[in-house]
Amino acid sequence: MQTSDYQRLDRAHHLHPFTDFKALGEEGSRIIERGEGVYIIDSEGNRILDGMAGLWCVNLGYGREELVEAATAQMRQLPYYNNFFKTTHPPAVKLAETLCRLAPPHINRVFFTGSGSEANDTVLRMVRRYWALKGQPEKQWVIGRENAYHGSTVAGLSLGGMAPMHEQGGPLVPKIAHVRQPWWFGEGRFGEGRSEGQDPETFGRECAAALEAKILELGEENVAAFIAEPVQGAGGAIIPPASYWPAVKAVLAKYDILLVADEVICGFGRLGEWFGSVHYGLEPDLMPIAKGLSSGYLPIGGVLVGDRVADTLIEEGGEFFHGFTYSGHPTCAAVAQRNLELMEAEGVVERVRDDLGPYLAQRWQALAKHPLVGEARSLGLIGALELIDPATGERFDKALAVGNLCRDLCFASGLVMRSVGDTMIISPPLVISHAEIDELVDKARAALDATLARLA
Ligand code: PLP
Repeated sequence: MQTSDYQRLDRAHHLHPFTDFKALGEEGSRIIERGEGVYIIDSEGNRILDGMAGLWCVNLGYGREELVEAATAQMRQLPYYNNFFKTTHPPAVKLAETLCRLAPPHINRVFFTGSGSEANDTVLRMVRRYWALKGQPEKQWVIGRENAYHGSTVAGLSLGGMAPMHEQGGPLVPKIAHVRQPWWFGEGRFGEGRSEGQDPETFGRECAAALEAKILELGEENVAAFIAEPVQGAGGAIIPPASYWPAVKAVLAKYDILLVADEVICGFGRLGEWFGSVHYGLEPDLMPIAKGLSSGYLPIGGVLVGDRVADTLIEEGGEFFHGFTYSGHPTCAAVAQRNLELMEAEGVVERVRDDLGPYLAQRWQALAKHPLVGEARSLGLIGALELIDPATGERFDKALAVGNLCRDLCFASGLVMRSVGDTMIISPPLVISHAEIDELVDKARAALDATLARLA
């Protein structure tokens, strides 16, 4: 089949996620046929550097035969069996052990799911159940953050704070509130309530104070948990000011509120540690995981459960009426296990921390000098560029959709870089080389130049 054949059938039958169906029908999809290392290859033979690792997940890159072999061997042995009703299988047991060994010491249990969204549904049920078992059933409110993404199931989108999602298909799950995100550039420097002369660290503390104010508004006796990513991914690669997490931790400790660190993007090396929580010293009670767990080769997620919650669920909970047909799916678990073994054997996480992260940071910072860029930031292998109007030094009118223009020009020049409004983001595979980082930065610069030329 030719590209046009795929596009015709796609248009006729396929409803894509997060897509304006009608607009896509007019434009036609790009058909991705193959992957090799950090590159994807489309049906026209274009080789494109995948600066987003798929959807923040192909951490080991494309084309790893070891993962194909792990899947094949497990499918031959036992393609499927479940973990319900007192049964399990070797891949789920081994993966549970590996995950708990890699997790911080106070985390020794995992509940498997098929995705990150299912992991966050599980989180919501677990935290409310935990407090009910503790004799405080009124502790039901969960606080998330505006513009956060925690998945597309009803619980996931309710925990998330994306206004356009909330507007579609409600009502949402009750007793979930949101507080401001620690996005210095967008809200501290250019936001509506910005105050002259404020610095990022003061802003970080203000964001933590907003959390405390929300807890007091809801009543501390009613708040079960706070959920946040260590670095907010889909919201725009938001790296919080250094003051933010210590201040948030202090607030949660003061009111005895559980911390859920969503590690779906930050987990498995993205920030240069096995978990983003380790980078920030968070010691969360629960950590939803997915994506990089299997490098995206097969769908699998889970919730890593700290001793405080796990012990209560186990000792006092009786049967937990919750689970998915594919919780701990053997083939997915075998691939995830092999993925983690390879990451350990190849020192992938340490390399991000000690070599690739600092190298990217140095190359990425050079883009801050570009006239379109108001800020360049990165941590480990996640990064963002904030676009500003060089004529005014202010943000562009949203209606111009400059971020989307830049994204499209990037794609055309052979780089996947995503746009969230006028924030350009990258999250490449963790096996990217220095030369490939150079290529990524050069292509990003070329796309910025092309965007500037279009705006002239
Ligand atoms: N949590 C975070 C932080 C995510 O970025 C995502 C997906 O992008 C999810 C949860 C949902 O994961 P999934 O798409 O596997 O359901």
